[in-house]
Amino acid sequence: MEFQTFGQPEELLLMRQTCRDFVDDVIHPFVRGNPEREWLFDPDKRFPLELLEAADKVGLRTIGVPEKFGGVMLDPEHEAQTLAIISEEMGRGDSGFADKLAQNWKISRLLRLTVPDHLQEKWFPRLVEDPSFLLAHALTEPRGASDRWLPYNAPSANMDTRAILENGQWVLNGRKHFISNGFDAKLFVVYANTNPEVGILDGSSSFLVPRDTPGLTVARCNETMGGRYMNNGEIVFDDCMLPEDHLLIRDTALQKKTDTYSNPGRIIQAAKNLGVGVAAFDDTAAYVQEYVQGGRPLIQHQAVAVRLADMAIKLESVRCFLRQTAQALDAGVAEAGQMITMLKVHASEEVLKVCQQAMELHGGAGTMLEMGIEKHFRDAAMFPHMDGTVDISSFKIIKSMFPCTAGTYAGPETDLKS
Ligand SMILES: Cc1cc2nc3c(=O)[nH]c(=O)nc-3n(C[C@H](O)[C@H](O)[C@H](O)COP(=O)(O)OP(=O)(O)OC[C@H]3O[C@@H](n4cnc5c(N)ncnc54)[C@H](O)[C@@H]3O)c2cc1C
Repeated sequence: MEFQTFGQPEELLLMRQTCRDFVDDVIHPFVRGNPEREWLFDPDKRFPLELLEAADKVGLRTIGVPEKFGGVMLDPEHEAQTLAIISEEMGRGDSGFADKLAQNWKISRLLRLTVPDHLQEKWFPRLVEDPSFLLAHALTEPRGASDRWLPYNAPSANMDTRAILENGQWVLNGRKHFISNGFDAKLFVVYANTNPEVGILDGSSSFLVPRDTPGLTVARCNETMGGRYMNNGEIVFDDCMLPEDHLLIRDTALQKKTDTYSNPGRIIQAAKNLGVGVAAFDDTAAYVQEYVQGGRPLIQHQAVAVRLADMAIKLESVRCFLRQTAQALDAGVAEAGQMITMLKVHASEEVLKVCQQAMELHGGAGTMLEMGIEKHFRDAAMFPHMDGTVDISSFKIIKSMFPCTAGTYAGPETDLKS
């Protein structure tokens, strides 16, 4: 599917072409040539190190790392727009692998903004030197996910993961699950409660936690239906001892997460998801022009052409919305946050429908693993639940549109009474 490029700066067009070539030359041959690889149930064997090394060689693993450490910094005026372009192209290649890289981009940016200089000097060079070095961002807990996205700002809805300062060391206890790159990461940003007397917005802190910290265990790799190369993981902290200076933001970490992580992160997610839809469209467009039923290629049956047009319209609407929203974020427009939340909902719903249409237009062949069409559908089905569910995001949209009438959350009943 061709893209509208008018009005885009030359650098963005070049970036798109570079990423597109990488996907066509490296990702697609690997993913299509090894369809069984994503199904390996040993996450270490599934981990596509060869792809990571290839991405590293072209600078796609270290985006967001300051140049003085050997990373790749994007022009701040076009940062979100550039990330959108890169993510769309990488999502067109493989959603799970795109997630792997995207975590590094998002978290490198977060580290740049929140980690003290001496720890940046320690960790960024390690990240740059080691092509297998991945980052993870651990917020979600078994009891507490949507509550964090709304958020319920009441003490009884606080995080279960606690951090206590004892004898000059932070001691972390708790469990984080559903964490992207969680199984493979060498460095984590972890959120924990540091003040149980107040709500989550005022009593949650963020920490830099190296994987080899005593008391940290990577408990499992979650076997997901889509995005399988991402190796989503679960992390347990059992008297995990951290030096005092590994505290990043004390008490107000969740308040600052939107700017430091979530807003660019959700642009990346929407764009990556768009890429999945584009791949489904491209495969379907090729198929209906080749495959014959009723004595003619499928595309010459008008009902098929109409379905294909519907797919194209949906993707174009996501792309236009994405571009507008990324521009708004780069320009620092006040409404950018709300646009991003709307984009998340729109992109996850429309791309999933596109992938469903792709399945339908392939008929029974669409359900066969060897065709690769069901993979797009599985990958697209992950997105509605990432970075806040569709319903929670929709709730947030209405809350910000009608703060007086829809803006007050009940919270747990005990807090309601106070
Ligand atoms: C592939 C993947 C990658 C992820 N990566 C990360 C990561 O890197 N780091 C991280 O910290 N987290 C990560 N997550 C977690 C993700 O952010 C959560 O899954 C998401 O916030 C939803 O939480 P939950 O799945 O626990 O759903 P729940 O919060 O348990 O919600 C279940 C259902 O109840 C609904 N619901 C919940 N509360 C309300 C309410 N108050 N009103 C109405 N409806 C409600 C939800 O909309 C949903 O339909 C990832 C998740 C996935 C699937």
